[in-house]
Parts: sequence; structure tokens; C-alpha cells
Amino acid sequence: MPAGTAVWRDQLTAEESTQLVRGAGVIEQPRPDVLVVGGGIVGVATAASCYLAGAGSVLLIEAGTLGSGATGGAAGLLVPEVHTWSDPESFVALARSSLEVWRQLEQTIPGTVGLTELNWIGPPPDPGGISPRQPPAAEQLDAGQVASLVPGLARPAAGFLIRRQARVNPLRALARLAAVVPSIATGTAATAVTVKGSRMVTVSTTGGDIHPGAVVFATGMPPLLQGLATGLPASLVKGHLLVTEPSPVRLPGTVALVATQLEDGRLLAGGTLDTGDDSPGVRQDVIDSILAELYAQLPDLTGLRAAYQWCCFRPRHPDGCPVIDQLPGLDNAWLTSGHFRTGILMAPITAQMITRWISAGRPPPEVVPWGSARFAHRGNASGASN
Ligand SMILES: Cc1cc2nc3c(=O)[nH]c(=O)nc-3n(C[C@H](O)[C@H](O)[C@H](O)COP(=O)(O)OP(=O)(O)OC[C@H]3O[C@@H](n4cnc5c(N)ncnc54)[C@H](O)[C@@H]3O)c2cc1C
Repeated sequence: MPAGTAVWRDQLTAEESTQLVRGAGVIEQPRPDVLVVGGGIVGVATAASCYLAGAGSVLLIEAGTLGSGATGGAAGLLVPEVHTWSDPESFVALARSSLEVWRQLEQTIPGTVGLTELNWIGPPPDPGGISPRQPPAAEQLDAGQVASLVPGLARPAAGFLIRRQARVNPLRALARLAAVVPSIATGTAATAVTVKGSRMVTVSTTGGDIHPGAVVFATGMPPLLQGLATGLPASLVKGHLLVTEPSPVRLPGTVALVATQLEDGRLLAGGTLDTGDDSPGVRQDVIDSILAELYAQLPDLTGLRAAYQWCCFRPRHPDGCPVIDQLPGLDNAWLTSGHFRTGILMAPITAQMITRWISAGRPPPEVVPWGSARFAHRGNASGASN
């Protein structure tokens, strides 16, 4: 649950807000073909994908309200190319495919998912030189070109322009996808599982038992349930964001290390990585430092106040990459967790891969790098524990 107040909920229509609390405590369908546990962007995208692919009846359960985990606190940026500088090629390929699926959803989901195309402008990651792996679509800019694209920048430096990236309001995208899912029970937490042989036969919840054909756990962190021990190493990394009052400055998209402009002229800034800070609440010193950096970059903004400020926790596996896998030893149970900094970006492709795996009964080839076995040496990565 984001602490503080994120901007996203205030941008929703009444109908979108209603989606977030659908079916509070009521399980309409206790024998679904597919049960999805977890109503963040990854779970909702997976439930929608399974239903649209004809996988049968689909039920999604969520312990709180939809989007009440990391999803409701994200920045909502969909910028796959930038990961070329920092992440494995398989990760970048997956991220690119996922942005394409986001674009398809924009065309096919009733009312769209609210995707906004934008350009990314930012400094080279290594100021001493150009990284050997560059995004193929990145256009190099000198400091003068950056200054003309971002007027008012106090310290224009050489950088890159990457066109055709995107962003969403994560809660709006989630609400629009949730509208496709036939059965949702919010306020319903999974508490235990029962396994018989190689099948998960029962998922016990605070609203009663569910007997699913297939189960997908999309719980942000690996699930901690009686009868299920994934043994996967994972932790939470806190981050702060703020949104200013409407700003007189106009940005040409998302300006890395500065801000992203929202539709109404407000600026979204921050996205700190507060490693080691486990305190649950918003820290005013962190918010003040984000504002101070904004004023230093764009002095015309000095004195502009934060209208929204919040923090949230990103679920992370030790290599910073997600797990997308079947639970070991179980034929009908899947897990996706640890989406860390890019779960909004990666949700549609994750959903699509799991849907294909459930439908075809075998893993799609692209899923191979994201298996849980890569952590096997760290301890017991088993499925059922009863
Ligand atoms: C400050 C910040 C900025 C970010 N910016 C971006 C960005 O710009 N772009 C991007 O792509 N990503 C971004 N992220 C990352 C993104 O928010 C996450 O990767 C993503 O939201 C993870 O989605 P999820 O569905 O896996 O998890 P969550 O959103 O955490 O959802 C998991 C859900 O499962 C539910 N759940 C857990 N256990 C149970 C249970 N036993 N029974 C029922 N329900 C259960 C939880 O209540 C929760 O709602 C950012 C994150 C932060 C914190």
C-alpha cells in the first residue's frame, strides 16, 4: 500500500474507482478454470489475458483493493530502451515486447488503457564515455541540443533522445483491464493451499475455499502461505515520488533525473531507491531533497510545491529480474514475482507468457531466463511444503 497520497486515484473516473473495490469479500465462482491470486497490475493483466484467450472461467482474488500494492505507487513509465544500458539483452527484449503488447491493449481494451506516448531525454549513463551497449533507437544530443529541447535547464549536458516510449496512470490501466475480468473478489486473501500429487487442489482464503483448475500467484513478493514454501530470496526496496502543483515549465516528455510532465501540467519527480530504509511512511527529508534537485535543475520552478507525495515498496529478487515460472513439482500452479522497477512495463508480456503456458501446457521459449531455478543454490526453491 503506498503511504502518503499518490496522484493516480484522483485522476480516475467514478467507474474506474469502482473497479478497484469490485466484489468485496464475495467469491462468486469457487471452481474457476483459472484462479489469479493478487490484484496488482501483473495479476490483473494475467486474469484479463487468460479470459480473453479463452482459458475458461477466471477468478481474481486480492487481499486489499486492486492496485493497493506497489502498482498504486509506481511512476507508470514504460521505457524499455533505457534498460539497454543496465540490464541483460533478454530483459530488454522482453521489455520491448511488453510495450508492444501495451500498445495492442490500447487498441483492443474497451475505453483503452490510457497509454500516452512520450519521448525520453537523458544523460549518458557513464558521463566519462559512451556505453558500449547503446539503445539502437537512441539519438545522441550535445548540450546545446538538450538545452533547446528542455528550455530553462540550469545544467544542460550531452545526452540522448529516445522516441516512442510511453507511460500510463497505473491505476487507470489496471482498472480498464479489470473491467474485462468476469469475477473479482477484493478483500479476499489466500491463506493456505492443499496439494494432492502434482496438483494444487484447494486455495483457502479469508472468504472460503477455492478449487481451481489452474492457479497463478502474482502477489508482488513470493507468496507466504501455509502449505506453500517457494524458498525464493526476495526483498523490498522503498521509493519516494511526488507530483507538483501545475507547473509553468513545459517538458518535451520524460527528462531523466528531472521530471515527467502529466496531462494537466503537473510534474512527476523522484523514484528514489531508498535501500536500507524499511520505515513504512513518507520521509519529509527525502521529499525535500527531490524538490531541491528539481529546483536546481529547473530554477524557474523554485518555490513550486508538492501537491502529492508518497512512497511505496518494490518487490525485488537478488538479480533485480522477475520470476515467471511454474511452481516446482506442480502441474497447475504458476508464480510471477519480484518485478522490482518495471512491473508496470512488464505486466502485459508476463500475462501473455503465463496464458500461453497454461493454454499449451508447455512453457513458451521466451520464459526460460526467468525461471526460479536460477536461485536454487541459495536454498530450497520447492513448491509444495506440506
Ligand atoms: C516508487 C516506485 C516507482 C515505480 N515506477 C515504475 C515505473 O515507472 N514503471 C514500471 O514499470 N514499474 C515501476 N515501479 C515498479 C512497479 O510498481 C512494480 O514492479 C509493480 O507494481 C509490481 O506489480 P505486481 O502486480 O507484481 O505487485 P503488486 O502491485 O504489489 O501487487 C501484488 C498484489 O498481491 C496482493 N496479495 C499479496 N498476497 C496476497 C494473498 N495472500 N492473497 C491475495 N492477495 C495478495 C497484494 O495485496 C497486492 O495488491 C515502481 C515502483 C515504485 C515503488
